[in-house]
Amino acid sequence: MKHLVVATRNKGKILEINALLTGLVDQISSAADYPDFPETVEDGTTFEENALKKAREAACFTGLPALADDSGLVVNALGGRPGVFSARYAGEGAGDAANNARLLEECQSVPAIHRQAAFVCVLAFVIPEGVERLFTGRVTGRILSAPRGEGGFGYDPLFLVDGFERSMAELTLAEKNSVSHRARAFGMFREYLETMKR
Ligand code: IMP
Repeated sequence: MKHLVVATRNKGKILEINALLTGLVDQISSAADYPDFPETVEDGTTFEENALKKAREAACFTGLPALADDSGLVVNALGGRPGVFSARYAGEGAGDAANNARLLEECQSVPAIHRQAAFVCVLAFVIPEGVERLFTGRVTGRILSAPRGEGGFGYDPLFLVDGFERSMAELTLAEKNSVSHRARAFGMFREYLETMKR
């Protein structure tokens, strides 16, 4: 593909996406390259709705194929919370520490065997002519009773990864990238682009 726009201003994400799509896209632009790029209101009730809304607005604004993501933590015993509210679970503008404290509080009465959870990442790819595709990556685990590890970000210290007896924050970056919801969604998107090239 010649030119793709990524609907994010987050510099870390832009770098990560550039690395993940090497060799498949000639040029990657982002919201940061356009002064008037629309600020999408993420008012969907699912990751899919939010990701699609962001990708559609980006494709419409630029006239280019657009990619957007939405991700978060889903805890079964909490009816799927924090879900689409993951970034603002403890309130608008809340940081990781406050969100993690709220999660611990909500899980207090949930016994360890009922603490199944998943990180989910949905990528939406929209081509202005009408193509719309969704790619969903998941990694399952359990919510811990206290934080463990220093790596990663967000809810990583409270998430014990299935198959590893370590929290997501105790994995190396390479280990996280071998199992993460984001890496899995991007893997599917890469495969899709590769089949489009043939
Ligand atoms: P975003 O939609 O990708 O910006 O992510 C929304 C929120 O989900 C973040 O602010 C984090 O709280 C949480 N989240 C998403 N991915 C991860 C992850 O890999 N580790 C920990 N928390 C995550």
